[in-house]
Amino acid sequence: MGLIVHKYGGTSMGSTERIRNVAKRVAKWARAGHQMIVVPSAMSGETNRLLGLAKELQPAAMTPAALRELDAIAATGEQVSVGLLALALQAEGLPAVSYSGWQVPVHTDTAYTKARIGSIEDQRVRADLAAGKVVIITGFQGIDDLGNVTTLGRGGSDTSAVAVAAALKADECLIYTDVDGVYTTDPRIVPEARRLATISFEEMLEMASLGSKVLQIRSVEFAGKYRVPLRVLSSFTPWDIEIAEEARSGTLITFEEDEKMEQAVVSGIAFNRDEAKITVMGVPDKPGIAYQILGPVAAANIDIDVIIQNVSNDGKTDFSFTVNRGDYQRTLELLKTQVAPATGAAQVIGDPKICKVSIVGIGMRSHVGVASTMFRTLSEEGINIMMISTSEIKTSVVIAEKYMELAVRALHKAFDLDQPSEAE
Ligand code: ADP
Ligand code: ASP
Ligand code: MG
Repeated sequence: MGLIVHKYGGTSMGSTERIRNVAKRVAKWARAGHQMIVVPSAMSGETNRLLGLAKELQPAAMTPAALRELDAIAATGEQVSVGLLALALQAEGLPAVSYSGWQVPVHTDTAYTKARIGSIEDQRVRADLAAGKVVIITGFQGIDDLGNVTTLGRGGSDTSAVAVAAALKADECLIYTDVDGVYTTDPRIVPEARRLATISFEEMLEMASLGSKVLQIRSVEFAGKYRVPLRVLSSFTPWDIEIAEEARSGTLITFEEDEKMEQAVVSGIAFNRDEAKITVMGVPDKPGIAYQILGPVAAANIDIDVIIQNVSNDGKTDFSFTVNRGDYQRTLELLKTQVAPATGAAQVIGDPKICKVSIVGIGMRSHVGVASTMFRTLSEEGINIMMISTSEIKTSVVIAEKYMELAVRALHKAFDLDQPSEAE
């Protein structure tokens, strides 16, 4: 018998009927003798609705004061969920108590809308567990040192759940969602995508950071740092299936590389529509130019992703990079008004309609020619590659957004991801 953390996403909490189902599933685990902590998200669509309301009244500039209120508003979605789930569990005849982030407390920094968890206090939760209660804790939210409510970024309930599991040294953290595991790529884009029985922690980290929103990246980082046993599975299986069967279902994130298993060269394909490309044209090709361009961007707290600098002919070069699409206008403005005059750049141009498609696999470490298969496949589809970025276990390309689905499908096929792997 162990201490188990369940996390339920928005779709899984989407109606009172579904919440009742969640309660029945949790009750089944509790009655089997496990101590249970449940971390639910807001009901599906609720966070968007709340942020939509905020947007109607939002001041033009997102000042820290405005961001503070945004978090106070967004955090209420999870507050409703925990209360409803506690009621549903009590109706099932189980003692259950709900807590908001500030009641636990879940301590975070003050980076509103993207706060990081620093620590989680466990006394209150442990006392409830010892008293035989199911403890329900809000996903997505915490509290900073001054008592302000903070949120952890979209998809942040995954991180709440894994952080709670790490803080309480849970035996396992089960992430229940609307798909039955981690797939070779998003099954909504490629119906032939296959569920992976296991995925290595490093690959999951890359997939999450490159856009697969099935797990928020910080949840994977936490799982790696604290070695939290982590599994992604479906909340849509019948709630009364055998616990042993349920505990084996879905996708397990593994921390040890399995030597026996012949690794697939590419394990998965991730994509991200949320980027925009900016090019500073005709800058002098001399030491310090990258810093002159990117220094002010970084100082404005804008994250930079892929970077490319062309070779120069005539002593001038073009310098391109990508940023989050939400930062596109702000970055363009900054470059036009500050960087271009300071560097003597001829022109600053941008393209917000791009996307990044990435292949991921630890097998890429020991295989050559993987990237060239990727480039050949895209060229056969007539897709132009604008930028390339590689690391040991991934290759990413930036292409026009309109080709995204075509690229993902073609690559999925080219790397045989629609075929069952030999290990299965
Ligand atoms: P939840 O509300 O449960 O947190 P999310 O919508 O955040 O659920 O994440 C689950 C979704 O992630 C799936 O419905 C799927 O469309 C998407 N997804 C993207 N990439 C993958 C992948 N490689 N495997 C599984 N799901 C993926
Ligand atoms: N409710 C939050 C969101 O929609 C957090 C989450 O669902 O993980 O982003
Ligand atoms: Mg999610």
